[in-house]
Amino acid sequence: MSRQARIVLLGPPGAGKGTQATFLAGKLAIPHISTGDMMRAAVAAGGELAGRLKVFVDAGQLVPDGLIIDVVRDRLSRADCQGGYLLDGFPRTLEQARALDELLLDMGADLTHVVELRVPLDELTERLIKRGQSSGRSDDNAEVIRERMRVYDNQTRPLSEYYEHSGRLTVIDGVGSIDDIRARLAAVIGA
Ligand code: AMP
Repeated sequence: MSRQARIVLLGPPGAGKGTQATFLAGKLAIPHISTGDMMRAAVAAGGELAGRLKVFVDAGQLVPDGLIIDVVRDRLSRADCQGGYLLDGFPRTLEQARALDELLLDMGADLTHVVELRVPLDELTERLIKRGQSSGRSDDNAEVIRERMRVYDNQTRPLSEYYEHSGRLTVIDGVGSIDDIRARLAAVIGA
């Protein structure tokens, strides 16, 4: 597929963003940029920053905007992003969303799709607790899950309105089988 796609996938923890992003990015042959994966890799790699990052990740809190914006700016400037990319887990605050818009403006590009996977809270918690049994993620336990939901409500949910205002948001129902959601997403993206 040659048409450029610059996609933001929005949705709360447990909405299935990672699963769907992996599939979609593969299908479109564009990089899947998961800031969560990048943060976990940075923690695992050790070094100066790792200790600081781990505190935020383990607590279910967002790492500081300035830091994550720098990481994403650097990643998007790499050659493999010239044909498009799929952002999973970024932006997560209004400041990040504004920074991304500025970055895109500088690059003379715009997002082609902003898609939100919408899933009710009780279903999310159930999914995350289940995932925690196999994911090995330090933040998939009941207490941290509650904190991540709270952070989502306070800091990330306002992004729906931000993108809706600028006419860029498409919401899809994130309840159903992985295949169902994959089909809904593909229909929106035209993949
Ligand atoms: P995720 O796998 O997307 O749920 O991300 C796991 C953790 O990485 C989050 O709980 C944050 O601590 C950190 N993180 C990932 N993306 C961001 C972001 N865009 N802004 C701030 N922190 C982030």
